[in-house]
Amino acid sequence: MRFGPTPWKCSICGHENAMAKQYCQECNSEPRVTLTDGTQVFPEHTDLKSNGQQLGYKVRADEERAKGFVRPVRRSYKHLKCGTVTRMGQTLAETYARNPKFYSGTFCCGCGTHFPVGAEGEFVWDGSDERVGT
Ligand SMILES: [Zn+2]
Ligand SMILES: [Zn+2]
Repeated sequence: MRFGPTPWKCSICGHENAMAKQYCQECNSEPRVTLTDGTQVFPEHTDLKSNGQQLGYKVRADEERAKGFVRPVRRSYKHLKCGTVTRMGQTLAETYARNPKFYSGTFCCGCGTHFPVGAEGEFVWDGSDERVGT
């Protein structure tokens, strides 16, 4: 893991930006991301733990989420295939609310693995028919 004011890499153009930059200096399109606890994203964050979850999950950075939400902040979703409801942390929930299409998949704690989200995905927000990631 890397600590301190290390650069962050734009996922669109690959440019490495100074930690203090909120948007990519090269393409000006990618707001900063961190891990759920606000720490720097490290390359191995997608490695899986024994419970099937990733070591870390990306979220939009604090200053980006502070700009406001386009969806309600919802903390739990249901996997349609197994019916299990999974709860997530506040920063993940706020990232979905700020940028509903930020994630391509999410974790089901019943199945112990990740499945797609989006219009063709396998998850709805708990208590609704609205697909996660739409
Ligand atoms: Zn860029
Ligand atoms: Zn499941």
